[in-house]
Parts: sequence; structure tokens; C-alpha cells
Amino acid sequence: MMKTETEQAFPIQLIDPFGRRVDYMRISVTDRCDFRCQYCMAEDMTFLPRAQILSYEEITFIARAFSELGVEKIRLTGGEPLIRHDSQQLIESLGALPKLKELTLSSNGSQLGKMAPALKAAGVQRINISLDSLDAKKFKRITRTGNLSKVLAGIDAAVATGFKKLKINAVIMRGHNEEEVLDLVAFAIERGIDVSFIEEMPLGNVNHDRALSYCSSDDVREILEQRYSLFPTTETTNGPSRYYRLTGIDDTKVGFISPHSHNFCASCNRVRLTAEGRLLLCLGNEHSADLRAVVRRYPGDMDRLKQEIIDAISRKPERHYFDLNDEPQIVRFMNMTGG
Ligand code: SAM
Ligand code: SF4
Repeated sequence: MMKTETEQAFPIQLIDPFGRRVDYMRISVTDRCDFRCQYCMAEDMTFLPRAQILSYEEITFIARAFSELGVEKIRLTGGEPLIRHDSQQLIESLGALPKLKELTLSSNGSQLGKMAPALKAAGVQRINISLDSLDAKKFKRITRTGNLSKVLAGIDAAVATGFKKLKINAVIMRGHNEEEVLDLVAFAIERGIDVSFIEEMPLGNVNHDRALSYCSSDDVREILEQRYSLFPTTETTNGPSRYYRLTGIDDTKVGFISPHSHNFCASCNRVRLTAEGRLLLCLGNEHSADLRAVVRRYPGDMDRLKQEIIDAISRKPERHYFDLNDEPQIVRFMNMTGG
């Protein structure tokens, strides 16, 4: 089909001022969640009113613009994406974007028991599931409202559904769950799935001192080396995890996401769309563009939206600077950011 002149004027790749190609976007479907994880949220949270968050049509329109500008992978996140009403409708619309190569999801697992097969049918290929503890009491303490057995049933439903890949994500906090590291790896090995350990990031003011709970990826690796031999691999899932293989284990990789100890900004290929339509150009900076204002002011104007996105990418910062001993520089919580 002949392209219009305006369509031809747009690049087919988004390249930032530091030469990094942006081919991955994370979309926060909602800032709401049925859990209140200690590292992610404060105990008392105020969520956005409905009118302020993007509709599914708006999200799909923005995602289409990105996919036509070379974004090949979309991860749906939040908040908990699966608790927004009829989230499957959004997943089906995004799964049908012709240029998208991969649609993935981050979830706390609470809804997977009932939704896993429908998610696969709608086009989700991979799921990252948060799991910070296998001890019901500790799990409740960390998530404040979560129910471990429901999450474990959700993980098993996802394993039985046969996704291309599943991964457990665990934020390890000293004094909270560092003694869970070996059990979490054993849990992943039993199910033939991957596991990544995340260093806690200072996003928003939470109810504990993040400097005291900080547990570095090297500390986690030391714990793992009590039981396993780890060797680095260049395998990647196009995200920030650095992966290791374990001697004698074929189906499980162990990843480390180390925003403090091994800065990953040089290879950053992603941007985030918040639930209220703010395009965040970096996890640890406030550089952003208000895409909700564009799609509401100029409904259906794809060229204008694409130009806004291209202009925003030219403002993507080089890197983040996190300091756990200082007041958080970033006041938005992770559920607002779209982790
Ligand atoms: N609710 C879903 C979940 O828990 O997977 C998706 C959203 S959650 C914000 C995405 C990821 O961010 C989770 O793996 C969670 O552990 C991680 N996360 C949240 N707050 C964090 C923080 N302050 N530092 C590091 N990781 C964090
Ligand atoms: Fe909810 Fe995920 Fe944040 Fe936990 S990490 S409070 S599950 S959004």
C-alpha cells in the first residue's frame, strides 16, 4: 500500500542522543494494586481518579505509535495490571498490533490462577511474577495484604499453561528476606523457570530506611555460591537483568538487576508510560512528556503523537544517580512508575 507523505517523514527507529535505540516500552495499566509491598508503596496510598488514567483505547493508540516507530517489545505492568477491569481487552488489542514482536507482563500473581490461559490466548508470551518469600507470614509482612497460597497457585497455573518463559522477581532486603534466596532458586529450578534478584530502588518515601535494608547483588550471589556454581552467560531478555547459569541446571537462569552496584544505563533501550499517560524517559529522572494531553487534545492525530514521542526521546537522560543515604530524589513510587 502507498504510504502518505507524512508517514514517510517518520523514522522507523527511535534513537536517543547517546546512540541508544529505544525498542522496548513498559506500560503501567493502573497505579492500583491489591498488595502494598513495603519497598514499592507506603502504607497509606492515594490512587489516581479514574478520569486521570488513560482509557484502553488511548493506551492502544499510543502503543501503536511506538510500534510504528520501532518499538518491538511491550511489557504491561503497574500497579497490578490484572486487577484493572477487563484488562484482557487491552491485552488482546495490544497483542494484535502487527509490528509488535513481544508482549509480556509483570504481575504479582494474585489473578493468574483464574487468568493464565486467557492471557496466553490473548497474546502474552512471557510473565514476570513477583515473589519475595516462600514463608506465608513473611510474605504477608512484606506485601502487607498478599496471600502466599493464592500467588503460588497462580504461578503453578502459569507453569501449566505453558508460556514461552516465566520468571520470578524477588527484591531482596536485608533483615526482611535475604535468607529466602536459596529457597527461591530451588523453587524456580523445580518448575523450570528463571529467577531475578533486584536491588531495592529509592522511589518514593516508604516506611523503612532503604539504606539499612540494602542488599547488593554481590551479597545475593555470595549466598547462592554456598550451594551452586554460577557462571555468567551473555543470554539476555532485552531488559536490565545480567544472567548466570548454574552448573548442572538446564532450565533455570538466575538474573541480577543491580541499579546501584552495576549501573545498566549504558545499554538502556526502554521508556515507560505511566497510567496517567506521562512518558517517563528514565526510571531515575523526572524527564517526561505528557502524552495524555496530546491524545486528548488531538484525538486520532497519529502524526502529532509520533512527533511528540520523537521530540521526547531527544530528551532521554544519559543515566540515573541513586543515593540511598539521601532523601529520595524521585518522589513517585514504583507503582506510579511502572516497574
Ligand atoms: N504488580 C506487579 C509486580 O509486582 O510484579 C507489577 C508492578 S511492580 C512495580 C514491578 C516490579 O517492580 C516488581 O518486580 C517489584 O518487585 C519491583 N519493585 C517495586 N518497587 C521496587 C523498588 N523500590 N525497588 C526495586 N524494585 C521494585
Ligand atoms: Fe503491587 Fe507490584 Fe508494587 Fe507489590 S510491587 S505493591 S504487587 S505494584
